[in-house]
Amino acid sequence: MGSVEFSEDVGLVHRDEKGVLRDNFSNRRVIIFSCSAYRSMCDALYDQFQSGAAIILYRMGEGYGRKLVQGVPQLGLSRDEMIEAFEKLAHLAGWGKLSVKITDEKNSEVIVEESPFIIRRQDIGPTSCHFLAGVLAGAASQLLGGAYKAQELRCASKEKGICRFRIYTRASE
Ligand SMILES: [Zn+2]
Repeated sequence: MGSVEFSEDVGLVHRDEKGVLRDNFSNRRVIIFSCSAYRSMCDALYDQFQSGAAIILYRMGEGYGRKLVQGVPQLGLSRDEMIEAFEKLAHLAGWGKLSVKITDEKNSEVIVEESPFIIRRQDIGPTSCHFLAGVLAGAASQLLGGAYKAQELRCASKEKGICRFRIYTRASE
């Protein structure tokens, strides 16, 4: 994942000879999915499962995050370069502006401006970006090796501003 491939200029997607949409980084098939479609999907989950929806979204995010970063060639990249690549990938993928801060070996903090995963409902708890929390946990586990979890500490669904996440290993719980 050189910086060239990560330039906004190359575009995100192309169509192959069959007319199937593929991304320009990994050549994987993609679909265009609006945030309102995502929220509608989440509404259906919350209507059915109430607080259980948060766990479902988190687990789906974990699977997504692991797969996403498999497209990042990790050989020869330092940890800082991997984090930088992930921040760029997230930005290009439309997740707002994401910045990762390593606190120590076992803890990191992620700040997201303009998270597209915010859900506003009366029956939802103080945080709402459970899918993104799962993505961060899955991506960290895949990139850094180990079992990482993520917890959203503050969400722009309740107070204006940023969403803030803590990523940690089970050992530091
Ligand atoms: Zn949030």
